[in-house]
Amino acid sequence: MLSGEGCPFDSAMNTLIDAHNRRINYLRISITDRCNLRCQYCMPKEGVSRFGHAEILKYEEILRIAELAVKKGINKIRITGGEPLVRKDALQLISQLSRLRGIEDLSMTTNGILLDEFAPALFQAGLKRVNISMDSLLPEKYRQITCGGELSRVWAGMAAARAAGIAPIKINVVAIAGFNDTEILDFARLTIQDPLQVRFIEFMPIGFFSEWRPQQFLPSAEIKKRIETHYPLFPAHTNKNGHDGPARLFKLPGAAGEIGFISPISDHFCGSCNRLRLTADGKLKTCLFSDEEVDLKSLLRSGCGDEELEKKLFEAISSKPLRYGFTGSGIKRCHRPMVKIGG
Ligand code: SAM
Repeated sequence: MLSGEGCPFDSAMNTLIDAHNRRINYLRISITDRCNLRCQYCMPKEGVSRFGHAEILKYEEILRIAELAVKKGINKIRITGGEPLVRKDALQLISQLSRLRGIEDLSMTTNGILLDEFAPALFQAGLKRVNISMDSLLPEKYRQITCGGELSRVWAGMAAARAAGIAPIKINVVAIAGFNDTEILDFARLTIQDPLQVRFIEFMPIGFFSEWRPQQFLPSAEIKKRIETHYPLFPAHTNKNGHDGPARLFKLPGAAGEIGFISPISDHFCGSCNRLRLTADGKLKTCLFSDEEVDLKSLLRSGCGDEELEKKLFEAISSKPLRYGFTGSGIKRCHRPMVKIGG
């Protein structure tokens, strides 16, 4: 499928368009399934069996895939994990990715624990913006949900990122009823003085281990309503360069920062989904909730040529589902836990 009908590559526009007319321009690359935290909703309590060294894509393999994807129209890349900063020489990969011709946006999702150490070098390597996950502002609760994480290190990491020039800084908060719903206003108030973007993300049922319960689910509309009982919220029109993705953005009056709502469950954005995900073990996923995966690692290691790799990439994009699936009891979840996919 190198050209012609059914091929998702529009060579005149240098763009990837899937069968549902969505432009695919965003690749999330998980570089490890290891993490220095154990967020309870992200990985099973008993831990996960780790990919062995040989199972993980080497940096040159990641680069080969990224290079091809960028040539075909991917212009946004996010590095994720596991925790991306625990993989040795992550800076080297970032530096190489940032130099790919055609990349307009290179970002990272991190828990921030190691940012204090890495922020200046990350910026030098070409990382311009970062999303930091922080599900509680209370040190004890943060320790509880992360199984031992030190919140002060995240704050130190955030300060270091800012001092290094990384901007914007976005905070990802997975909203969980009965856990951090009492902190919604405190998170919102962070944006008053600080030019942060605090994003409330709906808790998704991912991985079969997950302790996701319907009663823990807090829809974005409910979070917004709770903020609005204390403050007016104004739509913010700051989706510069389209880097805010599916977040709906608002501002408190006079605030320096913004509040975002990401609603994959209550208001799914499958119709505008522009993403592909490359797992640390070299599988390409076109839908977070699906078990469908295209094995790029085996292909690479069989010594394939660029045409074969391109064909696989195109096949994957052509089969990207229109929407996530459902079972009788709700969203059809995938087997992999999030830590092995990369959020
Ligand atoms: N270790 C990094 C971090 O903590 O940001 C990157 C990987 S982590 C898997 C990426 C993001 O996925 C985090 O913001 C995390 O909160 C989010 N996440 C994990 N499981 C989730 C779930 N079930 N629903 C919503 N977000 C989830």
